Amino acid sequence: MAGSRVAVVTGANQGIGFATVKELCRTFDGSVYLTSRNENLGRAAVEELEKLGWRPKYHQLDIDDESSVLRLRDYLKATYGGLDILVNNAAMLILAKDEDSRELFAENTRSVVQTNFFNTFRVCNILFPLLRPHARVVNLSSSMGHISQIEGQSEAATTLRAKFSSPDLSYEELLKLMNDFLDAVKRGDHADYGWPRKNWVSYIASKIAVSAMTRIQQRDFDVDPREDIIINHVHPGYVNTKMASFKGVLTIEQGAAAPSWLAMLPPNDVTNPKGAYVWHDKTIVDWVKGPLPAEY
Ligand code: NAP
Repeated sequence: MAGSRVAVVTGANQGIGFATVKELCRTFDGSVYLTSRNENLGRAAVEELEKLGWRPKYHQLDIDDESSVLRLRDYLKATYGGLDILVNNAAMLILAKDEDSRELFAENTRSVVQTNFFNTFRVCNILFPLLRPHARVVNLSSSMGHISQIEGQSEAATTLRAKFSSPDLSYEELLKLMNDFLDAVKRGDHADYGWPRKNWVSYIASKIAVSAMTRIQQRDFDVDPREDIIINHVHPGYVNTKMASFKGVLTIEQGAAAPSWLAMLPPNDVTNPKGAYVWHDKTIVDWVKGPLPAEY
């Protein structure tokens, strides 16, 4: 097995991650790992795909648990000696309610940002050393992760947008921006720093951070001795999943189309998309200047 090709999708027991595993089983010449935090749910999802004739493999992965990420890394290293595709799909959403106390709002915001951003960042830091030349990484962002979700022309919003979208943004600065956001939410004054007040703010902040992180990661890959490693961030569309309260307009297969396409970008000749923000119809949207397509 060592040396044979391998793909990993996080949070794949349901939704877009599940459909991405299915599509990669069809298109990728190698082992495809459906991972989940709950092993029973993950194994049931594997069985569902087996009934359709696909042969995904399974490994447990809770991105909130560092030891779980380390176990997956050690397993991949021992079994395959590397990693060829990583789809960072796992995420969560807690919509704030007007009646939430400041404490509850701050606690929920911390949970969302911790899982969606900080823990995805940690997954990357732990698994990226395994990436082989020509590896493809896909980070699931969102329309909510576009920089224009920091709305308005106030000085605070303009400054915040400029910080996140700086082409020189460092990981250190990004981590500080996100810790400052969490501190401001705790104090109740995040709107003074340009953040939207609306009930989506925790998810918006977490996905803007995922997108900003992706841009830095591609910069790093551009000077990495391993050739041709490409990472992109994607809005999969408004997809009919649990996260979207099953109100989304796209099927999970349609939602998986752009992430799977990015995971399968061919070796060597791709200059674009590369570190790009990609819409569900596979068009590239300018993350800094927008505008966002009308169709979410
Ligand atoms: P979903 O159906 O709710 O699936 C989310 C998956 O992530 C589930 O398998 C969930 O596991 C898993 N997950 C959550 N926390 C995890 C953790 N700590 N470790 C490992 N897995 C974890 O959501 P979805 O709509 O398919 O979303 C997939 C991605 O697309 C997310 O990044 C989301 O933000 C993004 N997205 C979705 C939409 C949309 O309209 N649906 C739009 C834009 C972006 P459990 O089953 O155990 O909860």
